[in-house]
Amino acid sequence: MAGRIRDDDIAAVREKARIDEVVSSYVTLRNAGGGSQKGLCPFHDEKSPSFHVTPSRGFYHCFGCGEGGDVISFLMKIDGLGFTEAVERLAEKYGVQLRREEGGPDDKPRGPQRRRLVEAHAVAQEFYAAQLRSPEAIEARRFLDQRGFDQAAATMFGVGYAPREGEALWRHLRDRKFTSEEVIAAGLVAMGRSHYDKFRGRLVWPIRDSASDTIGFGARRIHDDDKIEAKYLNTAETPIYKKSQVLYGIDLARREIARSAQAVVVEGYTDVMACHLSGVGTAVATCGTAFGDDHARVLRRFLDDHEGTQGEVIFTFDGDSAGQKAALKAFQGDQRFVSQTYIAVAPEGQDPCELRINSGDEAVRELIAGRRPLYRFALESVVKRFDLDRADGRIDALREGARLVASVRDKAKVDAFARELAGLVGVDPDQARSEVRRVAGRSGGAGGPGGPGASGRPD
Ligand SMILES: [Zn+2]
Repeated sequence: MAGRIRDDDIAAVREKARIDEVVSSYVTLRNAGGGSQKGLCPFHDEKSPSFHVTPSRGFYHCFGCGEGGDVISFLMKIDGLGFTEAVERLAEKYGVQLRREEGGPDDKPRGPQRRRLVEAHAVAQEFYAAQLRSPEAIEARRFLDQRGFDQAAATMFGVGYAPREGEALWRHLRDRKFTSEEVIAAGLVAMGRSHYDKFRGRLVWPIRDSASDTIGFGARRIHDDDKIEAKYLNTAETPIYKKSQVLYGIDLARREIARSAQAVVVEGYTDVMACHLSGVGTAVATCGTAFGDDHARVLRRFLDDHEGTQGEVIFTFDGDSAGQKAALKAFQGDQRFVSQTYIAVAPEGQDPCELRINSGDEAVRELIAGRRPLYRFALESVVKRFDLDRADGRIDALREGARLVASVRDKAKVDAFARELAGLVGVDPDQARSEVRRVAGRSGGAGGPGGPGASGRPD
């Protein structure tokens, strides 16, 4: 194997790869004056941007956490790449021919390189997309058709079909000079008695990162005799696919999220498609996992976050108990997002895909426009459990609701939430406030109402 990349080629990569362009795939940047740009730091949590990029110097620096460096170190850090791999990726993107020193030490990381895994995904995606037109894929085409997706929609999202004959993908990849090690590491092919396609016989969606590279697939069961019962299969963890961070649709949504300061989180691939086709261009979905703090961090990087407006994250939970549980969990989880989190619930528990089929594009846009604050949804879910026609029911509802309100760390919000609770239960606001104080005092929560740290947390 070749040795070290020549220094002048590395310099050429640094020269040609535009740092603002590269960073923009991960962080929304805005003009900060003096030829520099700023955004929310991807390396630490923050509310206001202290991550600066200076294109003329090819340099980034975060005043919050002290991270800094050039375009190569940025890519290494954010995608967990080795130096060589980061240089190779940039060289490829910016058309720099890399030459190697003869006989130098080889710093190639062990295992297939990220670039190879991404290339294998690109080849697999094309292969699947072409298969969607095959006679065998009739069920897959019917599935799309029944959900209101035509050929143009399938093309836009790169939807495809994995042939039932499990070795077809492997043969195709092998012909394109991919090794067994590479396609297995990519999570595309598994090794049993033969190399078989993990998603064989299924309708597949390419999952792309924010830079539009396909890094994984989601696959839906469509044949009744599919031996794998799971309705959906997703790529497992691989060197390029981390499900705690992956958001389906982020490649299409990120610009609109930045522009509109709003992100919509839906539950599935077809919901993302339905939203985008209906004109809700900010929709994304997690893939086979619940929305977690890492997903929130990814979204926040794209949300417009200037001048105190934090942007909105809208969840389309269904209105059933699972959805309510999820809302309560979100409320009690990372509270920095509480005040910017909204819930949109469609009539009769429809998801956006069903809503679009039954009522059209307009109804999907209205669903999102009719969002309600998460805290109100969560309070209602708690209060609804009690019989408010009875005095003891009201007391219990007030106590449970107060518990939820008292758990809010952002003390500036507590009073507003207590008033909201009073309205829901039908008691005087002062009574709700004193109940919240009582509950908060007993739990010994960090700082009583009106305590320090009103609207924030240390950054
Ligand atoms: Zn930072």
